[in-house]
Amino acid sequence: MSDMDTAAATTDIADRVEAVLARTPTGLLIGGSWRDASDGGTFDVENPATGEVIATLASATRADAQAAMDAAAQAQERWARTSSRARSEILSRAFALVRERADDLALLMTLEMGKPLAEAAGEVKYGGEFLRWFAEEAVRDNGRYVDAPEGHLRMLVTRKPVGPCLLITPWNFPLAMATRKIAPAVAAGCTMVLKPARLTPLTAQYFAQIMIDAGLPPGVLNVVASASAASVSEPILADPRLRKISFTGSTPVGKDLMRSATDNVLRTSMELGGNGPLIVFEDADLDKAVSGAMAAKMRNMGEACTAANRLLVHEDVAEEFVDRLAERMRALKIGNGLEEGIAVGPVIEAKARDSMEAFVADAVERGARVVVGGRRVDGPGYFFEPTLLTDVPRDARAVTEEVFGPIAPVVTFRSEDEAVALANATEYGLASYVFTENISRGLRIGDRIEFGLLGLNVGVISNAAAPFGGVKQSGMGREGGAEGLAEYTTTQYIGVEDP
Ligand code: NAD
Repeated sequence: MSDMDTAAATTDIADRVEAVLARTPTGLLIGGSWRDASDGGTFDVENPATGEVIATLASATRADAQAAMDAAAQAQERWARTSSRARSEILSRAFALVRERADDLALLMTLEMGKPLAEAAGEVKYGGEFLRWFAEEAVRDNGRYVDAPEGHLRMLVTRKPVGPCLLITPWNFPLAMATRKIAPAVAAGCTMVLKPARLTPLTAQYFAQIMIDAGLPPGVLNVVASASAASVSEPILADPRLRKISFTGSTPVGKDLMRSATDNVLRTSMELGGNGPLIVFEDADLDKAVSGAMAAKMRNMGEACTAANRLLVHEDVAEEFVDRLAERMRALKIGNGLEEGIAVGPVIEAKARDSMEAFVADAVERGARVVVGGRRVDGPGYFFEPTLLTDVPRDARAVTEEVFGPIAPVVTFRSEDEAVALANATEYGLASYVFTENISRGLRIGDRIEFGLLGLNVGVISNAAAPFGGVKQSGMGREGGAEGLAEYTTTQYIGVEDP
């Protein structure tokens, strides 16, 4: 590009940023209209690539959270009586609007979260698919009407909406984590209060307006962003009309919310942290394994619950695997995700960048070797180099804890048993990956590995049609697939006198 072209592109993007921010609601969505916080309070949203404030939003108080809960409770009965076809059509219209406004959504995500624009566009596509999938599922959630085995009784089994739900989402996938909950709740006929992450609320605000534009009735979806998460969750969890909480975020916060959910015996879905292993056997196709590791580790700057946190590699192929992966990682261009050709954006905040430094320092102190990266990038924004570590001892923090950033530690093993034991040596159980050309071995590992998700010779497996979720301390419940809809319904059985 010439200097003049670059200047024109910069002006163009600046205009687009201004326009999309002007189109993004900044209030609280309660009972179908956007309003200020009851005490007039606000909080700022930053761009992690520059550290600049890009928007100021209303910050919900306890009273606002209560008002959102009231609106959801009031709307529930009527909403539950709408036909599944009507709900399905709202989701279909929302899907079409997400496609139409995809550029706005992607831009907002890059601005508030930092991921490169191309990845943000990928999330718009993935996030939108939940609307399409649950629009299709909504009309197929059938019950049954059958004779009891002994006769003299008919059994009517129906699926009903659970009722008002509290949905809490994290910052790393600002659109998809919201649509993965909102779409099945709409399909089932549940009303909702959504609390998006404080760091990335803009995408959710914009998407909520899409749901209104698609025809969602007032009170069905209420959105209460807040500087104080507890101000929103505490009054709502204490309200006896709430029937379910669906949370995606860290395991410690999930545990706290589970404790709070016991008082009213709430239905609970928890999508929590991970410490995913990616196992490369000696018989793996190394091209596939390296590409899989790049996708599973580097996508979203490694800020994914499904990230391959530990690369477990058979010692016979470790050297070649590390060489090839190092070459790919060195080629990644770091920078502001709005710019052309950027593959790695900033991490979410200064604290996250500092924690990357601490992970590397700890590993090096214990004897690990830095093959690629390892340092923060100076200047504005919160950047950390894509980092490849080898000779990493098994007790290094980068191996035992969820890293949530662009650091890939390699640990070697000698046998299948050792690989399985290493993979399972974590309190987490969300995503795992195995690379082997021996399909029997791949399926055998599937039997032995304690993870809710397994990618066999592939580094990204999330799909709206598949049940996503973990075991152990990665949580409970599934999102997506037919299972994702069942989470928002409850079963009622009516015994009917034989006519
Ligand atoms: P987090 O737990 O800090 O925050 C998640 C959400 O909970 C945010 O909206 C936050 O404001 C809210 N929150 C925080 N404290 C709260 C409280 N006391 N009461 C109510 N809400 C509260 O997590 P995060 O840093 O936003 O996200 C990263 C974590 O999320 C990682 O551990 C990651 O693995 C996990 N995650 C899991 C999945 C999954 O599907 N399993 C998907 C994405 C992220």
